Amino acid sequence: MSRHVVPRRWKSGMIEVGAKVFAYVQASGIDPTGDTGVANSGLIVGPSAAVAVDALMVPSMTRRLVAAIKRTTRKPIAQLINTHHHLDHTGGNRFFRGAAIVSTEKCREALAPGFPPLSLLQRFMPKFAAEFAKLQVILPTVTFADRMVLHDGEREIQLWHPGFAAHTVGDAVAYLPKERILFAGDIAFLYVTPLAFQGHVGNWIKAADRLLRFDADVIVPGHGPVGTRKDLKNMRDYLALVRREARQRFDAGMPAEAAAADIKLGVYASWSDAERILPNVMRCYQEFRDELDQPMDLPRMLAGMERLRGAASTHACV
Ligand SMILES: [Zn+2]
Repeated sequence: MSRHVVPRRWKSGMIEVGAKVFAYVQASGIDPTGDTGVANSGLIVGPSAAVAVDALMVPSMTRRLVAAIKRTTRKPIAQLINTHHHLDHTGGNRFFRGAAIVSTEKCREALAPGFPPLSLLQRFMPKFAAEFAKLQVILPTVTFADRMVLHDGEREIQLWHPGFAAHTVGDAVAYLPKERILFAGDIAFLYVTPLAFQGHVGNWIKAADRLLRFDADVIVPGHGPVGTRKDLKNMRDYLALVRREARQRFDAGMPAEAAAADIKLGVYASWSDAERILPNVMRCYQEFRDELDQPMDLPRMLAGMERLRGAASTHACV
C-alpha cells in the first residue's frame, strides 16, 4: 500500500495550471456528509476561443463556474468536453448553449436515457436535493470512438478513450501534450475515494496505468485537488488493494457487504467518502461473477453505504 499524507482541504476556484490553462476546483475536502456530486471542471483558452472541460451538476454550481470563466476570459466557449455521462459532469450542459458538446459515442449513449430518478438522486446527494428538479439533459453534439484532436492555433487537445469501460462505459480524458497537462475526468479521483458503481475495477486499474504513462506533469482529476502522477498512482493502488482484498473474500464465500466492512483500508480510510468501499467491492464481485452488464442495485448500495458511514462516525466518536 502506498504511504502518503492525505490533504484535508485543498485549493479551489479557477487555478492556472499552465499558460492560459485552468483547473476549476469546487470547494471541497474532507466532509462527514460526503462530497458526492462535487466535481471539477477545466478551461483551456486559445487564440480565438476557449474549450471547457465538464459542466458540473446543479445550476448553482454551473452558474458559479460560468461566472469564473467570464472573469478569466472574454473568449467564447467553442467546445465543451464531457469526460463521461455522469450527472455531476453533464448536468450543467445547458449553460453552454453556443458550444459544440464533445464526448465519446458511448458517453452520449449512456446519457441519452436521461438522469437517474429524482428520488434516488435526492437520497444519494441530499445536499443538492432542491435543485435536481431543474435538471435537463442536453446531449453531446459531436462524438468520437477512441481518439479525437482539437486544434486551436498552436494548441493541441488530444481526447482519448481507453477502449473499454473503466469508471464508466464512455470515459474520455483531454491531454495537452505540449503543456503536459492531463484533464483525466473521473478516471482520476485524488484523495476522494473513487466510486465504481457503474465501473469495471479491473479495467479502471489498467486505464490508470495507461494514464500514468502519459507524460503529464499536472493532472486535473474529476474529483479532488490538482495533482501529479504520484497522486494518481495512490488512487490506482487503492483500486488494486480493494480488488485484491475483495477477491480473497469472494473466494472464501464472504458476502459483499461483509467484505466491504472487513477490508482494512489503512491510509485510504482517511480519503473522503471511504464508505464507497461498498459499491467498489460490489462491482468487483460482479466482475468476478462476469455479471458486470447487470446494473447495480442502487437502493441496496445506498442503504449499505449509509450503514458503513454510520459505523465509521460512531467509531470516530469513541
Ligand atoms: Zn463520474
